[in-house]
Amino acid sequence: AGILTTSLIILLILGFSFWYLIRTILRQKTLEEMKSDFTNNITHELKTPIAVAYAATDALLNFHQADNPTKRERYLRICQEQLQHLSGLVEQILSMSMERRKTFRLHLEEVRLKEILAPLIEQHKLKADKPVRISLQITPEELTVTADRTHLTNMLSNLLDNAVKYSLEHADIAVSCRLCQENEETYTEICVSDCGIGIARECLPHIFDKFYRVPTGNRHEVKGYGLGLFYVKTMIEKHGGTIRVTSEPGKGSRFILRLKKT
Ligand code: ADP
Repeated sequence: AGILTTSLIILLILGFSFWYLIRTILRQKTLEEMKSDFTNNITHELKTPIAVAYAATDALLNFHQADNPTKRERYLRICQEQLQHLSGLVEQILSMSMERRKTFRLHLEEVRLKEILAPLIEQHKLKADKPVRISLQITPEELTVTADRTHLTNMLSNLLDNAVKYSLEHADIAVSCRLCQENEETYTEICVSDCGIGIARECLPHIFDKFYRVPTGNRHEVKGYGLGLFYVKTMIEKHGGTIRVTSEPGKGSRFILRLKKT
């Protein structure tokens, strides 16, 4: 009986070690795959604005005095937009280590929502590769939030990017801002709603995780690297705010940012 028990214990230990080894290898593999996906996608994301800005500077260098001056301005605008886009991407990459960055500081100021949303919506309409409709409703019209202008712009830009990306043939998006009250606190709520592909219920708890992308269907068709929503969540929490999402597959998604009114 003693030998049997000892053999059983040894077998159990061996079985457990084997299971642990396999689990570690599999986890490592998914991590490696995620890293490789990330490097491929981020390289693509960085290369595109660089190539566009490069082409625009090339055109500027070949610009002749006799050419139409509005053309020159358009090229300069393209350069500026692409640099802005690059700076947003760099912010997101940095956000990966943001939780640990002690030197990280927000530059808070009173920001009029209309001031950042109106141009942002125009940019998203212009750069979209499909028909896009974006409505904007701000009540009251001069509504402000205390926020870091750059990071708030990047957060909203990410939500708009996704709303366009995850809508199929055409995007129908509504942005709305309003004041709301809960437990005697006043909040500013910013909602970005789309009528796109939506998100399956089982994926919802993960979409704010670093590198997470909904695994089926859109993974390789729609470009991305799973950092946008992680950045938005990290940032809104740095502002003392929250982000929530409601979604129905095939019907659309709604992302709600909430900031305490000071
Ligand atoms: P990505 O770079 O993949 O877009 P995000 O962090 O911005 O990364 O989003 C994580 C995942 O959440 C996306 O890969 C996508 O599957 C899903 N997602 C985000 N926004 C939307 C949306 N508006 N509609 C449908 N799915 C979305």
